[in-house]
Amino acid sequence: MSSTRSFDSTAVHAGREDLAKLGVHVPPLDFSSTNPVPDVESGGTSYESMANGGHPTDDGGFVYARLWNPTVARFESALAQLEGTAEAVAFSSGMAAMTAAVLAAKELSGGRHVVAVRPLYGGTDHLLASGLLDVEVSYCAAGEVSAAVREDTCLVVVETPANPTLQLVDIEAVVTAASGCPVLVDNTFATPVLQNPAQHGAAFVLHSATKYLGGHGDVVGGVVAADAARAEAIRRVRVVTGALLNPLAGYLLHRGLATLPLRIRAQQEAAKKVAAWAQTQPWVSRVFYPGDPEQDRAGLIGRQQRGPGAMLALQVAGGYERAVGIAGAVQLFTPAVSLGGVDSLIQHPAALTHRPVPAAARPGADLLRLSIGLEDPDDLIADLDAAARSALGPVKPSGAAGRPAAAARER
Ligand SMILES: *Cc1c(COP(=O)(O)O)cnc(C)c1O
Repeated sequence: MSSTRSFDSTAVHAGREDLAKLGVHVPPLDFSSTNPVPDVESGGTSYESMANGGHPTDDGGFVYARLWNPTVARFESALAQLEGTAEAVAFSSGMAAMTAAVLAAKELSGGRHVVAVRPLYGGTDHLLASGLLDVEVSYCAAGEVSAAVREDTCLVVVETPANPTLQLVDIEAVVTAASGCPVLVDNTFATPVLQNPAQHGAAFVLHSATKYLGGHGDVVGGVVAADAARAEAIRRVRVVTGALLNPLAGYLLHRGLATLPLRIRAQQEAAKKVAAWAQTQPWVSRVFYPGDPEQDRAGLIGRQQRGPGAMLALQVAGGYERAVGIAGAVQLFTPAVSLGGVDSLIQHPAALTHRPVPAAARPGADLLRLSIGLEDPDDLIADLDAAARSALGPVKPSGAAGRPAAAARER
């Protein structure tokens, strides 16, 4: 990327630098599972380079799709340019990307201890706790990182804004507290439009590409951006374990990047309006929204993150039953997990996305999480208002802590 080019121009053009020379206007979609080798010698050399996590050689070709796919590589190049890292490596899902990043960090450092700053996405919390990655995990709050880091710590994992409470974490403070241990920042909620964690010292920047990068609710994918040495280690994991992003998904994610800045800004504007309205509603006891100065006492919006984003969460007065009633009564919002698409979603984290999280660290039963899309915010507000009215009945003063999540499944 030319260093003078703006982010928005890069979003449209990155990963497409050679298209005119090829005589095409959109990236070619390459579905080859295998590739003819020019000759055994040069094919073998290229194979070896890629199996070690490197790139294909100039004359040896891609050899086999588990080693390299040019359509996916275009998306990776574009995402790396937007994050300001040397490289990026794409996967079949965000969790596959997280798995590879942890395994690569473990391999690079030799230690097997991970510090995980809560709250985290429920799936990440679950993966780290599962034992499958053979890591020992210390969970802690953002301010406790320096006490949690040990000699054998290979990675510090942090999410900001965090899922589902939109808590902001000071990346530079965590990097300092990690005292040399690499820090992975899950940047799914902010996207590179609003935040570039590598600029603040993060060694790994992870995205569930399923969310904003794809942006249309029709792709599952993940990606990790990092420097060249770390990207090699991550690609080695991908070559060996095979959690590949398929070429069509790579094409769609690359296409999604072109509109990412516009989508994020428009969705952010709408979310601002919905959050301001929610603050005035008697059925809302608290709005979790990073644009609220009360929630951003450290002033990270502006300094670290270029805007509050388009996610918010509402604590519902009246607890679990009212929260679930509202999620069941919306007409324009879709009651669904996931986030970051052009259409608005509403979900109940304690019963769904954060179900695997141990009860003590699980979000409240009275919490609803909203992903604001590109609809007219006045329509979204009218939908929430109608859902709140129809679902409510009188607010019960007690029982706000709510019932166990099991009841939510029966709906
Ligand atoms: C969804 C999500 C993930 C997991 O990504 P998948 O694509 O579902 O595997 C990781 N982190 C965050 C913050 C997420 O929202």
